[in-house]
Amino acid sequence: MPKPPPTSSVADIFPQLLPENSDFSSYSGFIQVKGECFQLRIRLPPAPEDDGDPTKCLHQAEMFCCRALSSLLAGSEDVIHERLLQSETLCQFLVELRHIIEQILPRSKLQPDFVSSQVPSANYYSRLLGELGGSQIGWKSVTSINSDLSAVQICLIDSKQRQHLLDINLDDNYPYTAPCCSIAVPDSIVPKWIPNQSTLGDLVDEFRRHLTHFQQLWDILDDLDSNTCVIEPERPTRADIFRRIIIEKYVSIRIELNTINPTSVPICTFMGADASIRPLQNKLDAKIQEWDYKKSVRENLQNLLEIQFPKFQGTEKEDLQAACAMCYAFKLDGHIPDRVCDNPLCSRPYHSSCLFNWLSSLHSHRTTNNVLWGRCPYCDYKIFAQSPAIV
Ligand SMILES: [Zn+2]
Ligand SMILES: [Zn+2]
Repeated sequence: MPKPPPTSSVADIFPQLLPENSDFSSYSGFIQVKGECFQLRIRLPPAPEDDGDPTKCLHQAEMFCCRALSSLLAGSEDVIHERLLQSETLCQFLVELRHIIEQILPRSKLQPDFVSSQVPSANYYSRLLGELGGSQIGWKSVTSINSDLSAVQICLIDSKQRQHLLDINLDDNYPYTAPCCSIAVPDSIVPKWIPNQSTLGDLVDEFRRHLTHFQQLWDILDDLDSNTCVIEPERPTRADIFRRIIIEKYVSIRIELNTINPTSVPICTFMGADASIRPLQNKLDAKIQEWDYKKSVRENLQNLLEIQFPKFQGTEKEDLQAACAMCYAFKLDGHIPDRVCDNPLCSRPYHSSCLFNWLSSLHSHRTTNNVLWGRCPYCDYKIFAQSPAIV
């Protein structure tokens, strides 16, 4: 009579490995190591006639592995063979094999549920909830969170009580892969992330430190936003380092600050009729040496240009914004009017594209290097427009 096959122990410890035949000489299925599932088939040669226990032939076992397991075990063949010879039962060998795989598995795969499963494990959620509620972040700072915790928004308050929203997107491999973060700041920041060591709290702390670099820049921009009539950007974010400000009707200045040294002379570009902006440009050029680094950019510009920036809102602001005299819109495909008739008595603003289309429809226009020359539709003063492809 053959001895009872030792199926119970294999089934108990490796429930995903199933016997393929009635004499239990062949098993097929999966072996799970720290959450990673590897396909495996192990076959023993037929047992001798006088002894039905197939594990007697364990040292002659043949093993077939999935590609992932084969590449993982490459180079460990001798150890496996040695364990095979030392094992008394198939189950004992499989336990040894599992131990070998555990040792080889890269560190990044040690937490199985984060890696192998599409649905994050309970550990994923409990770790995240712990980090969000911890002292470095705190639930008060969490402004939104989606149902599967894969997207979190955190409000950071800087030293001047300005609010900054940090969006964090996590994937199933968190904390082994760095979360994707976005925040409106003038530069790009790639925060440090050590897999399975860094926490969301560390990340938030790094962003808080990063915000300190721009306090002076934002002070200057806030001063411009509060005390002048800004027409561009329409809705500035904390990433925007320029403002276009109205000086008077049809005349504006675009100010672009230096991110590193925000109190230094900014890049200034005037926009308006030539007769209006030339005196301003001349004053700025002549008095640039008088720039006082201790004063705000707004004060400096007002002193040097000998003007006061007007402060208008609502309909007054719309009037000063000066819509295009051809399409009557201020914004067209995201562009504001950027050509102005040079006749000081006219000074009507146009979108480059509107003016170009108008001039190209006239038989009288001249073309020089993609620039169309013609006459202002209102006052007949000479005017030009660049091809929209170049503008
Ligand atoms: Zn237009
Ligand atoms: Zn004109």
